[in-house]
Amino acid sequence: MNIIELNDITKSYTRGAEELQILRGITLHIEEGDFVAIIGPSGSGKSTLMNTIGLLDSPTTGTYTLDGVATEKMSDNGLAQLRNRKIGFIFQQFNLLPKLTAMENVELPMIYAGIPAKQRKEQAKRMLEKLGMGERGHHKPSELSGGQQQRVAIARALAISPSLILADEPTGALDSKTGIEVLELIKELNQQGNTIVLITHDHHIADNAKRVVALRDGEIISDIRNNAWSVAVPKLEEAHL
Ligand code: ADP
Ligand code: MG
Repeated sequence: MNIIELNDITKSYTRGAEELQILRGITLHIEEGDFVAIIGPSGSGKSTLMNTIGLLDSPTTGTYTLDGVATEKMSDNGLAQLRNRKIGFIFQQFNLLPKLTAMENVELPMIYAGIPAKQRKEQAKRMLEKLGMGERGHHKPSELSGGQQQRVAIARALAISPSLILADEPTGALDSKTGIEVLELIKELNQQGNTIVLITHDHHIADNAKRVVALRDGEIISDIRNNAWSVAVPKLEEAHL
């Protein structure tokens, strides 16, 4: 089954008399369980496409079905609910709330999803443990390294058992060794059945995915299955950050 069906998506902005077409007819179907990298140079439309897939912005024309739900005619409120239920986000700058502890950050999406406190805390604890951060639940983000913060952010993304994990340059703010460890974590999540869409401008990072879709000037210019993808990854508990 396709978890994502984008059909002939365009996105334009008007600037004065000019119309800027940022996405120029993107058709992209992604299967459940896949690991897809979307790669392209700066300005090619990656973030615009990510915002569309993440239901953070609506296309100008075209249709988008997420996990069987047609999104075109939905209200902003309906879109927000769908987003909160279906999508886990991982960002370059982690986007943890600085005043909350690691545990409270992981609980946040579950608060939005209306999960009762007891269940929420149990699940947050489980997710932090899964990411090797079980001992750090009471720490604030500023007390954690970059790699640890990204682990908390990944635990947060997983908290609601999302259908889709959307990662925008998730290693962009990490040193290369830590970046590799985070990528290996993301690979392992995919091997456990999570669908991943990873946005990057870096070919080496894109090579970690099973399928690589290249964007240029708002169009898909290539779409390649990476047959080399079968490399064993270390277990979560073995990858120390
Ligand atoms: P990427 O993430 O690949 O660098 P973006 O999707 O951020 O690309 O941007 C693609 C193009 O769209 C850029 O030229 C950018 O200036 C333009 N753009 C993005 N958002 C807007 C906006 N809100 N208004 C006008 N132009 C925009
Ligand atoms: Mg961008």
